[in-house]
Amino acid sequence: MKIQFLESCFGDPLLQMATTYVVNDRLAVDAGCLGMAKIGLQERVGDVVVTHVHADHVGSMPLYVVNRLQSGVPPARIHAPADVLEMIRSEVFNDRFWPDLERLSTEEMSLVELHELPVDHPVNIAGIEVVAIPVDHVVPTYGYLLNESDRTVVVATDTRDTDLIWERAAVRDDLAGVLIEASFPESQSELAEVTGHLTPNGAVRQLEKIGRNVQAIAVHLKPSNRDELVAEIDAVGFPGLEVGRPGTTYSF
Ligand SMILES: [Zn+2]
Ligand SMILES: [Zn+2]
Repeated sequence: MKIQFLESCFGDPLLQMATTYVVNDRLAVDAGCLGMAKIGLQERVGDVVVTHVHADHVGSMPLYVVNRLQSGVPPARIHAPADVLEMIRSEVFNDRFWPDLERLSTEEMSLVELHELPVDHPVNIAGIEVVAIPVDHVVPTYGYLLNESDRTVVVATDTRDTDLIWERAAVRDDLAGVLIEASFPESQSELAEVTGHLTPNGAVRQLEKIGRNVQAIAVHLKPSNRDELVAEIDAVGFPGLEVGRPGTTYSF
């Protein structure tokens, strides 16, 4: 499985302003910056699974959906559990932030497809077995287990301390990697807690729940604190944990 960590900052590509991870060039986790990626990539990525509706995760979703329509490729398929899907309808395609493309769709011409995902149950999307697991953030939010060819990767962002997704990860013999958020430096651990995020030490506490070492990629580092966070993650020295670099395609 290949996971491309999309760049989202003009001028300094190592800063992550928004979240999109592209799996095998076909499936995206979140559309924070997907709508600002190269058109060719937006044409190839036909499906998006959504973690939650914060702006850094869905902000460019309307652009992505319309870019596909203008390219003449099939309409975007957006997947999320019911509570997140409802917020995509009420907060994104609401005829204010962006036209309600679902309502404007006709039988002859679909403009966007919104698909409800079951929770804690596998579904095949674009050749990937996807399982949505609720995590603990400040709005309804899901992490994802992604499986292909006996390799499982966990994407857990955004979340504070949580258990179920790590229980599910721990029993996967084929667990190959984890993308885990490490948003705030330790000096802002209280802010991390009230905003539903993790510090590097908090991320390590999550990884310890898996019970064995796997490749773990720290993501969602607050751009203004990146240098401090990189130093803290390096200082922790947790086996397998590395700082994610936007622009990189990781192979699992
Ligand atoms: Zn969030
Ligand atoms: Zn976020």
